[in-house]
Amino acid sequence: DAELLERRGTTIGPYSPLFYRTPRHFVHGEGVWLTDAFGRTYLDAYNNVPQVGHANPRVAAAVAEQIATHNVHTRYLHEGVVNYAEELLATFSPELDRVYFTNSGSESNDLALRIARHVSGNSGILTTDFSYHGNTLTLAAMTTGLDVSEPFGEHVRRFTIPDLDHAGGRGEPEVLAEALAQVAEAIASLQEAGHGLSAVLVDPSFSTEGLPRLPQGYLEGLAALVHDAGGLVIADEVQSGLGRLGWAWWGHQVTGLVPDLVTMGKPLGNGFPLGGVVTSQAVMDSFSSTNMYFNTFAGTPVASAAGRAVLAEVHERGLVQRAADLGERVRARLAEIEAEHPLVASAKGRGLFFGLELVDADGAPNPELAKAIVERLANEGILISRIGPHDSVLKIRPPLVITAEQLDVVVDTLSRALHEAAPLPVGAGA
Ligand code: PMP
Repeated sequence: DAELLERRGTTIGPYSPLFYRTPRHFVHGEGVWLTDAFGRTYLDAYNNVPQVGHANPRVAAAVAEQIATHNVHTRYLHEGVVNYAEELLATFSPELDRVYFTNSGSESNDLALRIARHVSGNSGILTTDFSYHGNTLTLAAMTTGLDVSEPFGEHVRRFTIPDLDHAGGRGEPEVLAEALAQVAEAIASLQEAGHGLSAVLVDPSFSTEGLPRLPQGYLEGLAALVHDAGGLVIADEVQSGLGRLGWAWWGHQVTGLVPDLVTMGKPLGNGFPLGGVVTSQAVMDSFSSTNMYFNTFAGTPVASAAGRAVLAEVHERGLVQRAADLGERVRARLAEIEAEHPLVASAKGRGLFFGLELVDADGAPNPELAKAIVERLANEGILISRIGPHDSVLKIRPPLVITAEQLDVVVDTLSRALHEAAPLPVGAGA
């Protein structure tokens, strides 16, 4: 692997850091399992691209069959493409009945911002103060959760997502009022600067932000402020979508955010590049009647075959409800860990998307412990990661096909690793 690492560094470059102190080199996948070049298997409790399992046979067969038949861009008629559009839109509420296909989350968000700018006639954008929505020029100018040298856009304002686990003794109504006042202030600042508001772009689960626990009514209040200012609400479902949060297909349906545009990526094609923007007929008519949108590789017959196979898997295996049921079970166990371990500040998330927030003895964020636990679990054959503004929230987000027993292994190993890395003080945890 040292030679491969060297070759990677002198071609792809060393600046896209690999996960782990000892980089992992996978050569095979199946379900929740990944096998490395040394024949060691890992339980993947992190990746959400293989939503219906690594190397899913149905997706592989659908792609192979269509690519061996023909593949053309979407300016020719193809029944599979239209079938996919219909099947995908059937998972949304009736008002969201039009779709643009893309190849990635970045393309989806870039297009959604462009549409919002056109429809609203404004240029200002709201984003949270720790988020990532993609790699285009527009998105780089509004990135707050990663290092980018692109100057922060003069037409962008950031706001903080409230977290009841960090309320500092304030009550829920107070946290809510303060958070919404901050949004109103950001909108007023955009208006004063002459930008107006085109859109707020948010992930309904706020995953990059560390899965905060929101006050009741926050998302409704946020959407109302945005609409009152003439802006559109864009729900970035790259992480929260396709059953991830349980109970419903899309994160906004679970959290209560009512969007004008929904952007999608990662899990849609289970590894085949496929993304999209879903919106209403009125929004599509407004934008597309004067804006040609064409995207060579997006929503081709092959991409649609992948997308249809993924939807069929989620439907037939009941993965949305399963995510809810399994998630409840895991959340109960994580709450136990939170109660017994002084360095676990809060258990977060829902469906099959969990966070465990780690602190030090003084209650400050503990990225060192989080890093040590992520490394330790990898050495024990389990993949997880970490998120949040301090990188101190453990991130557990397995393929939806994970079983209850496999989740038990993840939580048991995590619990053991926490106790061994940071033993309970004598007398604690009884
Ligand atoms: N939005 C969110 C919430 C994401 O997590 C990501 C990728 N990490 C993106 C957008 C960008 O997606 P892509 O890498 O497919 O362009």
